[in-house]
Amino acid sequence: MGKLIIVSNRLPVTVSKKKSKFSFQPSVGGLVTGVGSLEMSKEQIWIGWPGITLSGYSTKSDTRELNDILAEQNYHPVFLKRNDFENYYQGFCNEIIWPLFHYFAQYANYEKSYWDSYKRVNEAFSQAVLEVAGDDDVIWIHDYHLMLLPGLIRKKMPKVKIGFFLHIPFPSSEIFRLIPWCAEILDGLLGSDLIGFHTFDYARHFLESARRVLGYEHTLGQITLGNHVVKVDTFPMGIDYEKFSKAPENKDVRSSISKLREGIKEDYKVILSIDRLDYTKGIPERLKAFDDFLDRNPKYKGRVIFIVVAVPSRTEMEHYRLLKEQVDNLAGRINGKHGTIGWVPIWYMYRSFDFKDLTALYCIADVLFLTPLRDGMNLVAKEYVATRNNEDGVLILGEMAGTAKELGEALIINPNDLQGTSNALKKAITMPINEQKRRMRSMQGRLERYDVKRWAHDFMDRIYHIKEVQKQLISKGLSQSRRNKLLESFKRSKKALFLLDYDGTLMPFNERPEKVKPDRELKDLLGSLSRHSDNQVVIISGRDRKTLDRWVSNVSNGLVAEHGVWIKEKKFWKMIEMLSDEWKDEIKPILEVFVDRTPGSFIEEKDFSLVWHFRKVDPALSIVRVGELKDVLLHITANLNVGVLEGNKVIEVKDTGINKGKAAMYWMSKARWDFILSIGDDWTDEDIYEVLPEWAYSIKVGFGPTKARFNLPSYREVRELLKDLITKKSKV
Ligand code: UDP
Repeated sequence: MGKLIIVSNRLPVTVSKKKSKFSFQPSVGGLVTGVGSLEMSKEQIWIGWPGITLSGYSTKSDTRELNDILAEQNYHPVFLKRNDFENYYQGFCNEIIWPLFHYFAQYANYEKSYWDSYKRVNEAFSQAVLEVAGDDDVIWIHDYHLMLLPGLIRKKMPKVKIGFFLHIPFPSSEIFRLIPWCAEILDGLLGSDLIGFHTFDYARHFLESARRVLGYEHTLGQITLGNHVVKVDTFPMGIDYEKFSKAPENKDVRSSISKLREGIKEDYKVILSIDRLDYTKGIPERLKAFDDFLDRNPKYKGRVIFIVVAVPSRTEMEHYRLLKEQVDNLAGRINGKHGTIGWVPIWYMYRSFDFKDLTALYCIADVLFLTPLRDGMNLVAKEYVATRNNEDGVLILGEMAGTAKELGEALIINPNDLQGTSNALKKAITMPINEQKRRMRSMQGRLERYDVKRWAHDFMDRIYHIKEVQKQLISKGLSQSRRNKLLESFKRSKKALFLLDYDGTLMPFNERPEKVKPDRELKDLLGSLSRHSDNQVVIISGRDRKTLDRWVSNVSNGLVAEHGVWIKEKKFWKMIEMLSDEWKDEIKPILEVFVDRTPGSFIEEKDFSLVWHFRKVDPALSIVRVGELKDVLLHITANLNVGVLEGNKVIEVKDTGINKGKAAMYWMSKARWDFILSIGDDWTDEDIYEVLPEWAYSIKVGFGPTKARFNLPSYREVRELLKDLITKKSKV
C-alpha cells in the first residue's frame, strides 16, 4: 500500500520551550486540511522543521523527548543548527528566492554562504526522508524551501513516487536565470515525477527555464530525461470551502460580528484588506488608490471606512522594516488629510486574527480590496468569497495574483494603475446588489467544486497517472532477461551484422557537430568488435563521407554516409543509385537567408543534401523559424524530387528516393546473417527497423515512439551493451 510522506519547511505545529517544558501550537492551514482528507487508509507521515533551532533545546534528552511527543502524531522533526537555519531560511529563501520569484530582483542578495546552507538543509531533509521512506511510498514535497530535495531523494530511490508543489509564483526564465545556481535548482526539481504550480503561467515559465537553462524540451508539459518522465502541470490550490462557508452561522463568529458592528455605524460601507505586511502585497499602492478615491469622490467621506489588516511578517528584515514605516506613514497621512472628528477613514491594524475574528471581518466587509504586485495564489480572496453566504459583497483583485486567473468575476485591476484602481473602488461601492450576487455566485460555485480536498486528491491522482505513463514508456526497456537473450543469440551467431548510427547513439550531441569526434573508449569498442572476422560493423550515419572517413573508417568495416546516399565497403565509396544535386542551387540561397535572420544557425552541405542546423538558436525563435522554413521549402520542393525532413535540431532537404533503410537492405543482402543488431536514435533510423527481419534486434536510444523492439536511455548504455557483446564473444 505504501505511506504518504508530506515534507514541508515547517511541521504543522510550532514547538516552543518555556521553563524546560515543551509546548505545542498546532497550525490549521489549508494544506493540513487538504492532506488530511486524502486516503485515510494510507499511513501519513509529516516531515518538517519543528519551529525551534538546536540551540533552543541543547540536550540529547530534549531531542529525544521532542521526537517522541511529535512521533505520536506521525510528525517527524528535522533538527537544524541555528546558523544553518538562518542562512537557509532568512538568507536563501527570504533574500533570494522570495524576492526573485516575486519579480523584486533588486532585493536579491546572492550570498554564497546562503546557497551552501540551503544545500546542507536540503540534505538534512533528504536524510530524514530516507530514514522513513520505502519504494512504495508517495513523497509530496512543498514549496521553495526544498527545491533540491526531489533530486536528492531520486538519487537514492529511483523508483519512489515524488510530487513537488510550488506555492509561490515561478518567474519568467529571464528572472530565474539571474540565480547563480539556477541549473542546480532545476535539476533538483526535476527529480520529481510531478511538479505542480498554481497557474498555467508559472508552469510555462518553469518549462521555458528548463529549456533555456538545461536545454530540456517538453511535449505537452512532459520532460523525458533518460527513462524518467517528469510531468509539469497546474493545480490551483483551493480552500476548505465548507469551513468558511459555514463560518457565518458559527456562534463564536456571530458574537465577534456583533462586537465589530457595535463600533461601526450602520450606513458605513466597509472596505477590507488583509495580508501579511510584505512588499509583494502592494499595500502602499492600495492606500494611495484609496486616497485618490476620496480625493475624487468627496461625497463618500464619512460614509466609507477602510479596515487595513497588516499581519507582521519577517520583521527582522530591512525591506520589511522600511515597508512598515512607509505604510504607517501613509495611513497616518491619509487619515490626517481626510479624517474628521467622528470619522477616521483608515482603520489600520498591525496584527493577526484567529479564524473567528478573521471570518467576522470577512462577514462585515462590503468590499474586499486586494492589490498584490505579485502573489502565488492569495487565499484570503478565496476565503472571503466562501464566507459570503448571502452572496453579496465585491472582490477587487490585482491581476498579478494567481487567484485572478480563477476569479474572473472579481473587479480585476492593475495595482500600478492608481486611477484604474480607485475607479474600481467606486464601482465596487456602487455595484447593484443583483450584479454582486451574480458575480459572487459563480465564483462560489467554482471554489466549492475545486476546494483544497479536491486539489490534494487531484495532485495525488496525477502522481499515480504519471507513474503509469513512465511504465508504458519503459515497456520497451532492455530488461536483464531481454539483454541476456540478445547476448546469448550473439554468442551463438556465426555471422553478425551491426548497423550503428553515430550521433546520439554512440556519441552525445554537441552544439558544434564538428566537435563530436570519437573518443578513445568508443574507438576501442568499435575496433574490438570489427576486428572479429564474424562481425560486420557498419556505421550508418547522416554525416558526409569525409567526416566518416576521418573518424571511424579504421574502427569499422563498413560505412554509410548521408543517410544512405553513399556506401563504403572496402576502400571505395559508391552510390546505391544515381542521384542529382541540381536542386541545391535553388534551395541553398533560401537556407542562407534563414541563416542571416536566425542567429546561431548554420548550413551543412553534403553531396546530396543540405542541412539547416538550429541547435544553438534561441528555442522560442527556432519554433517560429522552423515553421517558416518548412512552409517555404514545402512550396518550392513540390516539383523537385526532394523531401524536407525534421531531425534532431536540424531541417534536412534531401533526395526522397534514398534513406537508411535502403542502405540497410544493401548490407543485409551481403551474407546470411544469423545475428543483426541495429541501434539508432532518431526518425532516420526508423527506416532501418522497418526493413529488418522480425528476429533482428533493434534498439532506439531514448524513449519516444519507435518501431524498434527495445530502447536504451542514452549512448552510455549503448556502449555498455557493446562492451558486454565483446566480452561474450571473447569467452567463446
Ligand atoms: N490569516 C490569518 N489571520 C490573519 C490574516 C491571515 O489566519 O490575521 C490567514 C488567511 O486565512 C489565509 C492566510 O493567512 O489563509 C494567508 O494566505 P494568503 O495566500 O492570502 O497569503 P500569504 O500570506 O500566504 O502570502
